[in-house]
Amino acid sequence: IDQQGAVESGTRRKVKRLLSFQRYCHASRLLRGLVPHTPGSLHLLDDDYLGQAAHMLSKVGTWNFDIFLFDRLTNGNSLVTLMCHLFNVYGLIHHFQLDMVKLHRFLGMVQEDYHSQNPYHNAVHAADVTQAMYCYLKEPKLAEQLSPLDVFLGLMAAAAHDVDHPGVNQPFLIKTRHHLASLYQNTSVLESHHWRSTVGMLRESGLLSHLPANMSHDMEQQLGSLILATDISRQNEFMSTFREHLDNQDLDLQHAPHRHFILQISLKCADVCNPCRVWELSRQWSERVCEEFYRQGDLERKFDLEISPLCNQQADSVPAIQIGFISYIVEPLFEEWHRFTEPSPLSQTMMGHLHKNKARWSRLRHINNCQFDKVLPSLLLCPL
Ligand SMILES: [Zn+2]
Repeated sequence: IDQQGAVESGTRRKVKRLLSFQRYCHASRLLRGLVPHTPGSLHLLDDDYLGQAAHMLSKVGTWNFDIFLFDRLTNGNSLVTLMCHLFNVYGLIHHFQLDMVKLHRFLGMVQEDYHSQNPYHNAVHAADVTQAMYCYLKEPKLAEQLSPLDVFLGLMAAAAHDVDHPGVNQPFLIKTRHHLASLYQNTSVLESHHWRSTVGMLRESGLLSHLPANMSHDMEQQLGSLILATDISRQNEFMSTFREHLDNQDLDLQHAPHRHFILQISLKCADVCNPCRVWELSRQWSERVCEEFYRQGDLERKFDLEISPLCNQQADSVPAIQIGFISYIVEPLFEEWHRFTEPSPLSQTMMGHLHKNKARWSRLRHINNCQFDKVLPSLLLCPL
């Protein structure tokens, strides 16, 4: 037992070192004096790129918005650029009397605190979720009812909801006894960290320091409640409350707590909306998220830990993971969202993509069982 204990603590130390090294690499960019990008750095770009990015922003509310292209055109500043644009669109800077320098500093910190090495949980995912959130905030059912505070909190929560994500999941942090797991007592470990990090950056930037203390405190709490709602292990809880409200038709969006609940649901939808996008975008997200799972599996294999579900590249194919994710999480949630929007044109578009994409993954899984490697590349590209 002693020996086993020694091996275990040795493994724990190695994993800790590895994760802190990843963290160090990340932090060292700051130490080397590479300051976070701000939209100010756009002037370094070709006028042509700048023009194309600006043109894309004029269509930021359309569902086939290509966030990957936008991120390239803005030189990796998609999150900061998008947030500044949306804050202007809604007049939030004027409404909350925000200091532009502080706002840029805060958004730069958030963007920089995402790990660009993560295939999935990086600043482009945050920008993608923010863009989806904007589309949902514009839904006719919601738009008229939302206060500037609702919009501000919805966009802020979307932008920051995965900040400083380590690229591994909660069970991994628990079994390697990562300090975050003990700090947050093994519950909503990552989400609590995303929220507390956001609050830290809010205070460090002083973005809300001109507001009355009770108001900024309330904003921090609401941001927490929104970000914590993205914990997928609380899915059933949110689904049954949402269903109950829709069955009873008792949602009153004049009532602030009900608006907050719908903001939680909107953020949850935005966070898992990848399979509702057009195939070419959807496929890229699928590959990225599976790549991140497989990397965790490789780490677990390397340190003789049990390989987590969905993280074994040999056993869990991309199509199989996607079909499971769509069937158990995405489809049930968007069916209720569809009902809530009564259904809106956007909602119908999303359901259309969702069903087509699911069917496409099913065909790919079938082939997967036969001769995956040979036919996959051509199948991914051809129109089905
Ligand atoms: Zn996310």
